[in-house]
Amino acid sequence: MIVQKSLKVPIHYDTTKTKIRILDRLTARITYTIQLISELITEDTEINRKTIRKLVKDSDIVAKTGLSSGFVQQCIDKFIWAWKSYHRLHRTWERQAASAEKRVASARDDKELKKRHKSFDKILKREPSIPDFRNKTPCRIDNRTGSIEHSASKLTPLWMHVSTLIKNQTIDVPLNPSQYHLNQLINAEISDFEIVKHSKKYYVHITITKVIEDQPISSIGGIDQGLNKSIAAVLLTEPYPQEEQLLDSAKRELLEKYDEIVSSLQEAKRWAKLRELRNKRENVSVYHDWCLANQVAEFTRGSYIAIGNSHFRQTQVRGNGKPKLRKRIGKWSYGQQRKFIVLKRAERGYPTELRDEYGTSKKCHECQSKLISRKWGEGHSYILCHSCGAKIDADFNAGYNIATQCRDDMLKAGMNMEKIYASL
Ligand SMILES: [Zn+2]
Repeated sequence: MIVQKSLKVPIHYDTTKTKIRILDRLTARITYTIQLISELITEDTEINRKTIRKLVKDSDIVAKTGLSSGFVQQCIDKFIWAWKSYHRLHRTWERQAASAEKRVASARDDKELKKRHKSFDKILKREPSIPDFRNKTPCRIDNRTGSIEHSASKLTPLWMHVSTLIKNQTIDVPLNPSQYHLNQLINAEISDFEIVKHSKKYYVHITITKVIEDQPISSIGGIDQGLNKSIAAVLLTEPYPQEEQLLDSAKRELLEKYDEIVSSLQEAKRWAKLRELRNKRENVSVYHDWCLANQVAEFTRGSYIAIGNSHFRQTQVRGNGKPKLRKRIGKWSYGQQRKFIVLKRAERGYPTELRDEYGTSKKCHECQSKLISRKWGEGHSYILCHSCGAKIDADFNAGYNIATQCRDDMLKAGMNMEKIYASL
């Protein structure tokens, strides 16, 4: 399995002012070049390397920006990458919108129609927007214009070597890697890097690639990211059942605290302080999702895992009586959590699939009946099955449904465990 990840390493605090000014000029020029490239295209332009290269060649961009051809190529690559990922997101969105529309058409009664209309409208509002290059945009720097190098220097073991705006002139910028960064770089190949300014500080985002040996798989599992801000992981393994609920109450408490301060700062209109706090809140969120992903990866060792994948599910904490707060916590990082789980598992040699979870929370996993109702009580939500009488935690129920759906698909495709392993 090939794992790709990005390390965000700050540049060293002892970097000279001259070098910082050179970075300022370089990154500004890169942004400007990408903006100029985006002005060359029309609605009918085909976004591929050949076309864009020709457009740039026929324009005055090189003369206007004075960038070396290596940087210009990298700007073109960035531009194409941004459009390609937009198209990919848009295709996913189109599929989701089409199936939501179908669900509206097949509604059986007024109540269902209203509900499905609401979810369709919600999806329509989330159409991905086209790439915007008005803000500072970095490009990926590879060996055409720069490299990340190890050195025995006393100041720091890691340096960025990069070309400047002046022909044949390069600079070496010291980086300030943590022990974690240095460990990650062992046995990893550095693909490229970006120079990114964040809260007035420069960082180098290094993309590394590692080859990790695939591990044998002995079970299938499902994960549901619950409404209760927890993760419900279920393994279809003997002794059956194996389930674990990974709670992140520490994160939730901290974020609630931050959100309360944020709203008081908003009322007091203290914008600078507010910005600072937002960054801190973001760091807290990333850190906790990272820890949680590690726990999930440990619990699911040896399993093939499917995670319910939906951007449009209801994300409210019910019943805490603070609607304003609820709204902000609603921006809970489901996507980030999933990304970390996939990565942490991949680093251990296990594959993870994202699976459309539509319907997995709407049936009882024990008897497959859809005659269920959702209840809320004792701090969590559960389902009551009217066919078999089961009372099951809603998140675990969804986890089981995701896992069995995944297993059934594999059986349908005629795969057994050995074959699954062989085909990964
Ligand atoms: Zn049932």
